[in-house]
Amino acid sequence: MSMPMMRPKRKNPVLRTRAPTLPPATRSRVALGLTAAAALGRFELQVCRDCGVVQYPPQETCRACLSPRLQWCKQDGGGELLSETRLDHSNDLFFRERLPWRLGWVKLDAGPALMVHVHGDVPPAPARVRVDLRLDRAGQAVLLAFPPQETPHMADDAQLREMTCDPKFRKVLVTDGKCAVGQALIEALVDAGADIVWAGHAEPWKQATGFARVAALPRVTPVPLDLTNERSVHALAGELGGKVDILVNNAEVHRTFGVSARQGTETARAEMEVNYFGLLRLAQAFGPALRARGADGEAHACAWVNLLSVYALSNFPPHGTFSASKAAALSLSQNLRADLRTGGIRVINLFPGPLDDEWNQLLPPPKLATRALADAMIRALRDGVEDVFPGDVAQEWLERWREDPKVLERELAASQAG
Ligand SMILES: [Zn+2]
Repeated sequence: MSMPMMRPKRKNPVLRTRAPTLPPATRSRVALGLTAAAALGRFELQVCRDCGVVQYPPQETCRACLSPRLQWCKQDGGGELLSETRLDHSNDLFFRERLPWRLGWVKLDAGPALMVHVHGDVPPAPARVRVDLRLDRAGQAVLLAFPPQETPHMADDAQLREMTCDPKFRKVLVTDGKCAVGQALIEALVDAGADIVWAGHAEPWKQATGFARVAALPRVTPVPLDLTNERSVHALAGELGGKVDILVNNAEVHRTFGVSARQGTETARAEMEVNYFGLLRLAQAFGPALRARGADGEAHACAWVNLLSVYALSNFPPHGTFSASKAAALSLSQNLRADLRTGGIRVINLFPGPLDDEWNQLLPPPKLATRALADAMIRALRDGVEDVFPGDVAQEWLERWREDPKVLERELAASQAG
């Protein structure tokens, strides 16, 4: 059984900061299909459309019948751990610093046999297991065998924590604590055992509903932060940059505004100023320190979360300029992800549909409750996924977009006319 993780001791300032190292990250193009599935928190393997064989490792053609008609399909992961070994020595820098490491050989009920990382709570082989995909510190998919049922303190397993971003005992900055979404995120982080939650607030002199209540929660500290002001962002980074383990950027400006709805660019500029340039300012101020602390102790820096929107995938004309600003932020987040990857920091993007918040009061339901969004973020951190589409509306958009982005664009244009 996993030992519950204890609060990490304060770092001895004389000790060296462990430099971030990454596990081997080379993958063939076809094997990146596993990474694409893991980024969404899915376990998929190639299935042959001609003979039905489930195959692993991924290849261009079916090993049974040579058909090139392979499709990535969801797997339940049930299987048998046949044998295992404990790695006590490694020439790889990443694993050498994290030994011992448990590995095993699993035969999936679906057919293929796999070499996997083994969670500490799996009993000695032979044993039933549930195999799943996780992204490792290098951002690539790896296979991990879990016990078939939840066990106490399962998330505290040292090997698993190397692949996830559990907020437990971590220090988190939420860039906007004043809005309804920010308050839900802060509450969820406190419930998840975060060590400190810094709650950014842009205009300290302005009262905001609910902020006093959230600011009074244990382990929550309000900090002044205005994403439109470079000096404000850098001042806070100077103070907290070396301490933040998880940065949650939820600050946004959202107006109902399209190309022909109103004249002028002022509203669109205000949206870009926070949604795009705000992210850029944060990335420049906090990115380097976060990247450098990717292996610093047990509760090292591990994640950067962006609140985007499904409208980042395809423009929703009634919220046209907002969609454009989120599309810009999505593109920038990919740049940030490539940057932070070298430190093993995961960039997680949240793509909710319409939220039940102050910006969407006039929009008819269904709308995603702010707490549901917050819970989805906590799950994403615990599972270490990259892209999250919380709620039915976002899930449906994602499927339509994956099927055909052009069709979705036309459907959304029609919603403008209606
Ligand atoms: Zn086949």
